[in-house]
Amino acid sequence: MSFEKLGIIKPLLDAVYELGYEHPTVIQKRAIPLVLSKSDIFATAQTGTGKTAAFALPILQKLRNTPSDANRLISAVILSPTRELSIQIHEDIQNYAKYMDIDTAILVGGKDIESQQRTLKKGVDIVIATPGRFTEHMEKGLKVSNISIFVVDEADRMLDMGFSKEIRKIHLQLPKKHQTLLFSATYSDKVRKLSKQILTKPAFIETAKKNTTVESINQIAYLVDASKKAQLLAYLIGSRNYPQVLVFTRTKASADELVEELKKDGLKCGVIHGDKTQANRLKTLNQFKDGKIRVLVATDIASRGLDIEELPYVINYELPSIPEDYVHRVGRTGRAGREGEAISLLDIYEKYEIKDIEKLIGLKIQKDVVEGFEPDPNIRRKDVEERKLKNEHKKEPNKKVRQYNKNTSNFTKSKKKRKTTKRD
Ligand code: AMP
Repeated sequence: MSFEKLGIIKPLLDAVYELGYEHPTVIQKRAIPLVLSKSDIFATAQTGTGKTAAFALPILQKLRNTPSDANRLISAVILSPTRELSIQIHEDIQNYAKYMDIDTAILVGGKDIESQQRTLKKGVDIVIATPGRFTEHMEKGLKVSNISIFVVDEADRMLDMGFSKEIRKIHLQLPKKHQTLLFSATYSDKVRKLSKQILTKPAFIETAKKNTTVESINQIAYLVDASKKAQLLAYLIGSRNYPQVLVFTRTKASADELVEELKKDGLKCGVIHGDKTQANRLKTLNQFKDGKIRVLVATDIASRGLDIEELPYVINYELPSIPEDYVHRVGRTGRAGREGEAISLLDIYEKYEIKDIEKLIGLKIQKDVVEGFEPDPNIRRKDVEERKLKNEHKKEPNKKVRQYNKNTSNFTKSKKKRKTTKRD
């Protein structure tokens, strides 16, 4: 199957071939004809499967004849959960539209809203936006009455981030006749509920088994004490000569702490999390892409949308609090069919938490230890100890309760109250 066979027009073909895309990926093969035939779509596709081109190419093709005057209203909107992912989609679309006369705009928070309004005034065909900023623009008068294509990308993530109200609000304002394309890495109940609200007779595309991780990724977990994790991480990177690694932590604080530790080992590190400004995140990401940074430490939300070519290693320094995020994290490696390796470092608690992830992906992750970093068998889980104590407490014989008797000014043993029944 080729891009020509999918009916893709010449200017788009030239652009994708220039990018080195030889054949369409599975999601592209299935989604492109459906989008061109105006069908609503509900696709479960993981990051790295080529889903951006799966919706962007047919959208560009459909909009090829829109007049380019300044008074035109926007024709398509693509909602994405984060600024980084929006920027990535925007970049991809600009690359695909290189030989076409299509104007795009990116509307994300953290940027001056007035300058975004000025861009819109010049006439724009496709908008890529985060839900919050797009609703802000709508409240300030952005007209959505000409939108014929509505894309909700990484829907599961947007719902986790609490954007359900905004998505439905935007959807309600769209003209009756429009096409909605919903993409989600996972198939949660929340996503299914949203799909029922915003899709009309959708075609279903399932490119991988529910919540499975990309097949070409080799997944392994090392058991290690929490106090030795940073040391082990530095050891793995150094001894295995990893050229570049993306490391995930659960919180901003542990991301910062880890970076300090790794720097002591002489590793060039960068950190991306919610407290960093947009400009700072982009700078760090670019330094990582250029190879100036060897270890990029990121939290889950900030990592969304990072598109780094040929990233071979992803390390879960801490497991995510939501099992679905594991799928997103490891989706950063093994992109577009390339080999990748995802390593998780498990402390005594995470050894149990990983079971939820294994249940979700339907796969048992191999566990191992690294010589010199074996967990100390004397370290026990605090929660197990606490539970034991509680049970012991429960087992204690009931002490007889003594009550104060007002009449005798004495304490007396309480008599068990007789249960009353209806007959009493
Ligand atoms: P996505 O899932 O859209 O984030 O795409 C993942 C990566 O695969 C991006 O770097 C794309 O540029 C790349 N890609 C998308 N489609 C193809 C294709 N047909 N052939 C090769 N690479 C592709």
